[in-house]
Amino acid sequence: MAAKIAGNLEGCNVSIIVQQLQGAYERGQLKNALYQYWAQQVPKIFFTSAEVAISTQRTPDAVQSEEKLSRDVLFEPLEWFLCGGNPAAVFQQLQSLNNPPQLCGKVFKVGEPTYSCRDCCADPTCVFCIECFNKSTHKTHRYRMSTSGGGGYCDCGDVEAWKQDPWCDIHKQGLGQQSQNPIEKLPPDIAARAWEVLKIALQYAVDMLLWEQMGGLPQDLEPSVPQNTYVTMLFNDEIHTYEQVINALTKAINCESKEAVEFATVVDREGRSSVRYGNRKSCDEARTVIQKSTSSVRSKPLKVEVMHTSVCAHQAFAQKVLNWLGQVVNHSDGLRHILCTTALQQPPTGDPCVVERLMLADTALWKTARVQCHQIMMGSLLMDQESKKQFSVLYTRNYPQVQKDFMADDHDHGVSIISLSVQIFTVPTLARYLIMEHDLLAIVIRTFLDQCASCRHGRYLLDREKLQKNFRRLQFPLLDLKYVLSMVPDQWNDQLKRKFLNGFKIMVELLTSMQGMDSVTRQVGQHIEMEPEWESAFNLQIKLAPAVAMMAGWCATDKMVLIDAFRIVVKALLEIRGTADTVKMCKRRVCDQEAIVVDYTVSREPVSIHLPICRLLAGLYLQLGKHGLTFNSPELYGPLDWTSPQARLSRASEIAHRASACPTPLVLARSQPPSAMDLLEQPLRTLVMIAQVHAEMWKRNGYSLFHQVYYYHNVRCRAEMQDKDIIMLQVACAQMDPNQFLIALLNKFELMNWIEDVTEKGGSATDDLLRFTNSLVEEFLTFLIIITGERYVPGIGQVSSEDMVRREVIHQLCISPMAHSELSKALPENHKHETGMEAVIADVSTFKKPGVTGMGRYELKPEFYKDYNPFFYHYTRADQSKSEEAQLKRKKQEGESTACPPPELPALSKEFSSLVNVLECDVFVHTIRMVLRRVNSSRSRSWTEAMVHRALHLVGMALNEEKRLYQTSPYIRFNFVKKATEGGSNSLYSALHDLLGKPRIQNHADLLTWVIDRFDEVKDLKDQKQGASDAQKAKKVSSKSKTDAERKKKAEAARKRREKILAQMSDMQKSFIRDNLELFEATGTELSSSPSMEVEGSPMVVPSQYPVAVGPDRSPATHVTLTTSTCILCQEDQEVAAGNKCVVLAAYVQRSTALSKSRGKVLEDPDKYDPLLVSPDLYHGVHTSTCGHVMHADCWQRFYEAIVAREQRRALRFRHILSYEVDRGEFLCPLCETLSNTVIPILPPSSTIQPDSVSADISLSFSDWLDGLKKTVEASQRAMMKEEEDKMESSDDMPVLSPCPLPSITKNMAEMAAQGFQQLFEYMTETGAQAPYSDSVKEMMKLFSRATYTFGLGLDPNDDDDRVPITAWGTCAYTIRTLEWLLRDQGKPLFGSLSSRQADCITALVRVVTVSGSLSDPQTISKSALRLLSALLPQEPMKNIPCILDLDMFFTLVFLHVTISSLYCDENTAAGGTIRGVALNDKHLMHLVTAAHLVQILLAANFTSADTPMDTEETAEGSAWVKLFMAVRKEAGVQTPVVPSGWQLQTYVRESVLPFLRCSALFFHCHTGVQSPAQLQESGVSEFEPLCQYLALPADLSSLLLQNSGADVGHVVPHTIHSKWCHYPGIKESLASGPASLVKYPVEVNRLVPLPHDYSDVINRGSVFTCPRSDGDDSRAPTMCLVCGQMLCSQSYCCQTDLEGEPVGACTAHIYTCGAGVGIFLRVRECQILLLTGKTKGCFYPSPYLDDYGEHDQGLRRGNPLYLCQERYRKLQKLWLSHSIPEEVVHFMEANASFATIEWQHL
Ligand SMILES: [Zn+2]
Ligand SMILES: [Zn+2]
Ligand SMILES: [Zn+2]
Ligand SMILES: [Zn+2]
Ligand SMILES: [Zn+2]
Ligand SMILES: [Zn+2]
Ligand SMILES: [Zn+2]
Repeated sequence: MAAKIAGNLEGCNVSIIVQQLQGAYERGQLKNALYQYWAQQVPKIFFTSAEVAISTQRTPDAVQSEEKLSRDVLFEPLEWFLCGGNPAAVFQQLQSLNNPPQLCGKVFKVGEPTYSCRDCCADPTCVFCIECFNKSTHKTHRYRMSTSGGGGYCDCGDVEAWKQDPWCDIHKQGLGQQSQNPIEKLPPDIAARAWEVLKIALQYAVDMLLWEQMGGLPQDLEPSVPQNTYVTMLFNDEIHTYEQVINALTKAINCESKEAVEFATVVDREGRSSVRYGNRKSCDEARTVIQKSTSSVRSKPLKVEVMHTSVCAHQAFAQKVLNWLGQVVNHSDGLRHILCTTALQQPPTGDPCVVERLMLADTALWKTARVQCHQIMMGSLLMDQESKKQFSVLYTRNYPQVQKDFMADDHDHGVSIISLSVQIFTVPTLARYLIMEHDLLAIVIRTFLDQCASCRHGRYLLDREKLQKNFRRLQFPLLDLKYVLSMVPDQWNDQLKRKFLNGFKIMVELLTSMQGMDSVTRQVGQHIEMEPEWESAFNLQIKLAPAVAMMAGWCATDKMVLIDAFRIVVKALLEIRGTADTVKMCKRRVCDQEAIVVDYTVSREPVSIHLPICRLLAGLYLQLGKHGLTFNSPELYGPLDWTSPQARLSRASEIAHRASACPTPLVLARSQPPSAMDLLEQPLRTLVMIAQVHAEMWKRNGYSLFHQVYYYHNVRCRAEMQDKDIIMLQVACAQMDPNQFLIALLNKFELMNWIEDVTEKGGSATDDLLRFTNSLVEEFLTFLIIITGERYVPGIGQVSSEDMVRREVIHQLCISPMAHSELSKALPENHKHETGMEAVIADVSTFKKPGVTGMGRYELKPEFYKDYNPFFYHYTRADQSKSEEAQLKRKKQEGESTACPPPELPALSKEFSSLVNVLECDVFVHTIRMVLRRVNSSRSRSWTEAMVHRALHLVGMALNEEKRLYQTSPYIRFNFVKKATEGGSNSLYSALHDLLGKPRIQNHADLLTWVIDRFDEVKDLKDQKQGASDAQKAKKVSSKSKTDAERKKKAEAARKRREKILAQMSDMQKSFIRDNLELFEATGTELSSSPSMEVEGSPMVVPSQYPVAVGPDRSPATHVTLTTSTCILCQEDQEVAAGNKCVVLAAYVQRSTALSKSRGKVLEDPDKYDPLLVSPDLYHGVHTSTCGHVMHADCWQRFYEAIVAREQRRALRFRHILSYEVDRGEFLCPLCETLSNTVIPILPPSSTIQPDSVSADISLSFSDWLDGLKKTVEASQRAMMKEEEDKMESSDDMPVLSPCPLPSITKNMAEMAAQGFQQLFEYMTETGAQAPYSDSVKEMMKLFSRATYTFGLGLDPNDDDDRVPITAWGTCAYTIRTLEWLLRDQGKPLFGSLSSRQADCITALVRVVTVSGSLSDPQTISKSALRLLSALLPQEPMKNIPCILDLDMFFTLVFLHVTISSLYCDENTAAGGTIRGVALNDKHLMHLVTAAHLVQILLAANFTSADTPMDTEETAEGSAWVKLFMAVRKEAGVQTPVVPSGWQLQTYVRESVLPFLRCSALFFHCHTGVQSPAQLQESGVSEFEPLCQYLALPADLSSLLLQNSGADVGHVVPHTIHSKWCHYPGIKESLASGPASLVKYPVEVNRLVPLPHDYSDVINRGSVFTCPRSDGDDSRAPTMCLVCGQMLCSQSYCCQTDLEGEPVGACTAHIYTCGAGVGIFLRVRECQILLLTGKTKGCFYPSPYLDDYGEHDQGLRRGNPLYLCQERYRKLQKLWLSHSIPEEVVHFMEANASFATIEWQHL
């Protein structure tokens, strides 16, 4: 055997070791052998030198070699031995023995997506992994998605986790397998070895991890040669901040702060890190310093230990062993079973087993060690059913201790063993088993109680301080309780009952300790001095409420359990009440009715809002009916004393007795049922206090009480607070005589004086008292409405829980239409986070889809408005008034009566049927009559409108009730009508009639009418019932229907009138638009500030002369914008003219890479950047935008100086955080607050300055023009060469071309040509009119150019740099290019679709640029012109002149247009002052540049196949292109494997040249003001020919390059020039490097990266992404750059880098390479967009992913499935492409103060 192994092994020593192990194994000495081997090897491999010892200095190499060594030396031999052969093969074989898995069990990493099915999950913690989910049927159900916090696992295959379809398609295959003991399937020899090996390895790993002697090892691991090196080990805690740790480290080990940051990162990630390596002394010193510098009064110091390196080495190895074990058992069920058995086996010594040891030592371990232990538990114990059970027993047994350890610990819940609770307690069978056999319920509740309360005299007292400080840690047993209770048992047995009731009793003890908590006494006179703490009681309440509700739910399923639980609670309640002696009673009388009530004055004595015992009782009470029990059922009142052991014993037998269903009645001492008064008293006090708070009587008690009242009523608490109190009152009411009930209420509301008319009679009431009393009466009446009207609780009314939800939804939608999330927030959730809303929402509402912004909303269907009740008890006061307003508005619009009468109510259940008697009792009728009488009395001050409203509502309710009873029951005792009509003129009925027409109740007149109508109706019914004749009835037309009919008629008439007017208006509008179509479009778009200057002719006359914008024959300027404006600062109108005051536009100049075709290429050295010869990949550009607001230049300057001065003053005091940086020249537009950093001067249009006619008569043919320019380039080059040769030594200067004088060119030309040429250029240098621009204009132009230079290139201002004007021209070209892309991206026509600010921006830019040539140094300009020409008309190759492939032709066109006029300027030419721009130059230029562009396009073409569509004839143009294509490519020496067809080429060329033509057309349109052709104002039309015509180009562009027979030959670029282009150095290299590096034509619009449709794909991408810097670790905040798609590790120290000497996060670093300082990201975990600009500014933005309800979900809080909304993503695309991100960010920051405090640079 051994020999065979050796034969298979490469290298010798592994086989030797395996042989030794085998030998030892046979001798029974395996453990010794292994330990000896490890003792020698482990210290050699781990922690061998300082470099490896100090974690942060571990290079990837060191880590790798450690990894490899431990693999080769330590694990390899072990695996060979274990397998008895090649591990890879054996493990595979073992795997095949496994049953196909029925459980997935995939352990989630942090951030991985998880899915739960809302329809099928047993509880919300049940989740699927993405693979299982996608293969399951739940994909089609209502599912919820979220991201894992790490630590859980996939529940696929767990039959208890899912109500149906627990298996996905993958795991379904595991079904039906025989469950054979998996160990039996293993080959016996392997099994035998595995028992040994796994046991030794596990024992070793756990021993080492828990090893406490840091100075040395266990004896059997001591190496033979002891070393003497130590490390200082620093441990993580959650108390000290990064900064504190870094600070301590820099002191202790004298390191750079960067290194300290790395240590701190490791400590945070791994839980510990060695920070020093050396001898004992130096390590001790470091420890002392760290501890000293981190200890403070408030916190204990950081944990630091000095450890022997060999201990570290073994611990490191122990962690690896755990991992290895995890891998090994993953191969085989059998091996897993062996490991589990070993781990759970108690050693013969009686010590705890390995698992228990780990459980109890959890908090002593460091972070990674803990996580590894938990992972191996999940991967082994929890995957094996039997072991899971054993594990859970151990866990339950140790639960109190483990929780206690966690309390004392400082690590997060996620890295604690208690995070495993969810894996155990959510399994229903397991939970039930643990309850029955191990008293789990009692243990959990008791653990909580012991943690936060102390027991005194048998009663628990809550420890406020603990609750307040540690609640975050304390709460976990309460969560566990929720898990345990989440599945209600379908079957009970005795043991379960006993154990459940045992737990229930402890729960009642806990609730008893809360009863009466935080009681308050009304403060009179002075305001309270200190706000009492109130949150902890509410925190406790919120966490406890679900568990209490679930316990009540358990009770409800079994009659006996319910009875016992009821008794326990009643007993507790009576104990709280105390004996009858302590309760004072007194007598009260109202209108001949007398009642004995509890004498307790809420406004003077303490009252608490916390009454959990009463509320629990109310909850149980509602369940009684289900089991045929009532409040007075004798079964409910057994012996009170069953705490004594005997009593308990007798209980047990009693329960057993009952369970055997023996009908013999039990003979037991009975207690009296609590009196209705006992039930009533406590909740009534609380409710009265709240009424008094509303009446503002408790103002002096401060905010604390205010908050409590708020939460009492809030959706999160009300179900277990307010609602239960109301139920309790209803319970009491149903038991009592209604008159007595009302007297008790009046007494408690302190309204006895009011009802006895004392205040009214005395007339001496103070204003305050009167106000309080009036408010209290309102509250009292509201209260009656609620008590009698709130019947939508199953048990009280005859309703289902669906009815209850439906009513909630209806009332929410009566406030306003709502989005899904708003609605769910307003509804209470059950423990499964369900509101039940989906079941009813479609019935009651219609869904309105959202637009590009906003959310989808639900609107109530009209037929449900009748259910509206303005006094709905879950309305806040704001809700109430909003809903009333909305309903009033709606009713007025519909022309209905404005009354909102009480809605029809469902019948009450039998138990509660006597509730309605309140509405007809004497005291009630008396009270209402009193209210109405006071309204009628003109002297009375004690009435309010609100009172009338409520009184009328109550009368309406009483009438409704009587009517309902008449209709449903044959015999009724409800006599409201009778009582209300008694007493003649004193009756309630006549009081109602007296109100009619009273102006003081005008607002409720409609309701009054309704009430009287209803009154008459019911009276009739009553008479009918009593057999009275109904002869009268017929003739009586109800006043209601009469008034209603009238109203309807009026409203109908009004509506018709409105419609008619609207129709007329719309007709007029339509015809107006038809008549003024052109004008209409212009106002929307091109025209901005000056509609008066619109001089364009009527659109009908256009076709007679097609507009041409270029050349001597160009059309007259008709479309001139930006001519007059109003200064937004001084409000004066200003005409734009050369001599007038200068006006400017606020503008923002920014660097840009948006158009880059080489993403990631950065402007490395701005000092060397040549802005003149622009590369066509546009990797860097300068973009300018404006908000379009105009100011006088001097007004703006004063404004700007004021801002600067203000900021300087402010800087001295506090640094105010601004959204803009004044020191970078930024300011906000004074009108619209758009971010700006410069201004663009508005110049007069060129047509007003330079008459066109002047240059018209110069004649110079294209070829002569070309010839002249060629000669110029030649001559200059010759001159330069000569100069070069003359001064060889200074050759590192760039060669500079200087233009030669004009005569030296013309002398070599033919006479006619020379004359024309002379005229063309001479005219411009000598006879130009003096430039009419004022100094202020020139200054503003300079300012703008300077801004483009400094902000665009990121350089310091330097006015002497020749590149200053050039960057200004560049920004004009770049901005036009951007706009062209934007229009193309949105499929809009070229003209007429720009916004006015965009149109104004390019118009202003073009005007500035076209005259800037004449305002700069003419020599600089002429040199620029010459350089451009030498690129375009190359002669001799020059090293700083690129080939035409590397030149953007639109930029070249703009630059040449600006500069060419100054070509022949020299020092003698007067500087400045000449206006140039002769049309003939433009035309020739246009031809030349287009020709060059065409060659560029032909050279870059990359056809892979040749084809022609059928029926396409080859055109002359097509053949010309083929000819040209072949020719230029041959010249350039490129291979042409595929020759495309003429049709293909023609299409390709036309498409490719189009963007250039479009940009040129925009440019010349802005420059000349020639109106655009009509075709270019529509989308979807062929643009090519109109564009050519507009630009004075031939429609057949091939004629620019090739002399076609018959065609106009005036503009052919001769072959010699093509040839030069194609032979220029660099061409061949560019072409040879392949299509990837060339710009592809047609140039496509850059878009944000495509995003997947389903957001879970995004989450998944984020979860597989690991931090690129920390060796495969998860990234905490994976963030995707939407520009380039790269995933980044954001917001984390690990990926910080230095930017200009400051540490910045990954996103900020990225925007400087990817987006020139601007970025747009998707934060994957948060599902939100992050916009960044610069280092300090940013904002969050809703993501474009929406759920089915049209809502986004920031932070994935709701978890609905999310899908990409294309429209919204396009909106983001537009935001990015239009360069609006900085502007948007600043707007957001201005609007959102919290954004200013975020440190954006760290993201
Ligand atoms: Zn799964
Ligand atoms: Zn599955
Ligand atoms: Zn499902
Ligand atoms: Zn002004
Ligand atoms: Zn503005
Ligand atoms: Zn990017
Ligand atoms: Zn990272």
